[in-house]
Amino acid sequence: MSTPPARWTKRTLAAQAMGTTDPATRAVVPPIHVSTTYLRDPDNAYSSGYVYGRPDNATVREAEAVIAMLEEAPSALLFGSGMAAATAVFMALSPGDHVVAPRVMYWALRSWLMTEATRWGLEVDFVETDDLDALRAAVRPGRTKLVWLETPSNPLWTITDIAAAAEIAHAAGARLAVDSTCASPIHTRPLSLGADVVMHAATKILNGHTDVVAGALAGRVQDEFWARIVSIRKAGGAILGPFEAFLLLRGLRTLPLRAAAQARTAQALAERLSGHAHVARVLYPGLPQHPGHDVAARQMEGGFGYMLSIQVSGGEAAAIAAAARVGLWKRATSLGGVESLIEHRASIEGAGTPCPPDLLRLSAGIEDPDDLFTDLDEALRAAHA
Ligand SMILES: *Cc1c(COP(=O)(O)O)cnc(C)c1O
Repeated sequence: MSTPPARWTKRTLAAQAMGTTDPATRAVVPPIHVSTTYLRDPDNAYSSGYVYGRPDNATVREAEAVIAMLEEAPSALLFGSGMAAATAVFMALSPGDHVVAPRVMYWALRSWLMTEATRWGLEVDFVETDDLDALRAAVRPGRTKLVWLETPSNPLWTITDIAAAAEIAHAAGARLAVDSTCASPIHTRPLSLGADVVMHAATKILNGHTDVVAGALAGRVQDEFWARIVSIRKAGGAILGPFEAFLLLRGLRTLPLRAAAQARTAQALAERLSGHAHVARVLYPGLPQHPGHDVAARQMEGGFGYMLSIQVSGGEAAAIAAAARVGLWKRATSLGGVESLIEHRASIEGAGTPCPPDLLRLSAGIEDPDDLFTDLDEALRAAHA
């Protein structure tokens, strides 16, 4: 892969997937590399750098190069899912290590931390990470090895000050990892704010077309911790498949355009829904009344992300009834695709969820924002009729 000149912007570099073409055929779109094994050289070496498909793949590397560029990282790693990427970070820790994670965070990862991570020997404390005093009180100097953040965090879009959290983590001798899925690399650059590792469910806006499950990590430095993560992916076979990597690479070409459009739509919907007769509360960091707005305005760039939630007046039954009455919005879990999704979040998280029962989670896509508002407005009215 040729290194493109540094003067091009991220949007330009993403559009051309870092300028990669196929030297053998002069194809503008590089082929999908499906081979699981590679030829040894006559002198017994592997001069191409590729040996076998479980540690490495050329198509996967092409997608990783785009993600590393977007995150301003020396390298990125792709996994078979967001969860595989996130859990690799925790598995790089040692039994007895102490970890601090947000009380309200991506539900499946919280469940994993409460079950498998504990069996692994990690001690996990959940705190309101947006409360910096609570975070400071939770870290144990010398014992805490990782602080995990998610910002904006599911499903209340709580904002944590990454730079302040990095200072707290580093002062205690811990690393800081940030699940930046709902910010996207377009609106937040966690590594530049002091994070050591950034994680994405690439299933979401990075791919953006609701047809790939994938996860990504980008590290600020290639230290021994990063080497352990590389080794965990290799040994556990958690690498993304080449076909998925190709689709992801195609999605990444339009990420800057999609992320900007989706954040604009989310902002417009949040503003219009704020005055709605059947909406008790709108949760979106782009609204001045959101508790995380000031920090978000400081640490996010060019928009506040594609995710928002509404609390429906009339409670849980009215919320479920409204979600059942949309037509254009798709009633499904997940987020970040070009098609807008709506979900009654407490139904999928189940017992013990900190998610309010009257909450509908909205993922803004690229449809006409007026059409999206009209459809939701009609569903809310019908649910209250
Ligand atoms: C979806 C998601 C994950 C998990 O990603 P998968 O690809 O489903 O494993 C983690 N964090 C956040 C914020 C997510 O939205």
